Amino acid sequence: MIDISVRINGREVRPSDMRTDLERALMDNTIRVMRDAARYQCPAHLRTALRITANGLSLAQLVFSVDGCCRILEGVLEETLEQL
Ligand SMILES: [Zn+2]
Repeated sequence: MIDISVRINGREVRPSDMRTDLERALMDNTIRVMRDAARYQCPAHLRTALRITANGLSLAQLVFSVDGCCRILEGVLEETLEQL
């Protein structure tokens, strides 16, 4: 099972930590796009990412980092996630 986490100011947050509807909507969207990315298979190694982490000062300013089998998988996924 892929490890997906969201960190705000270095602290891991969960959907249950969200206080407002806007925060909940942003969190739901972030988790959805990360789960979509988690299904992508590396074309060279046919593996999915091991871990996807979103980090930022707020839910609206997240930078994604991906751990996977190679730079191709990591680069493709990080680029895809940044555009969402
Ligand atoms: Zn690979």
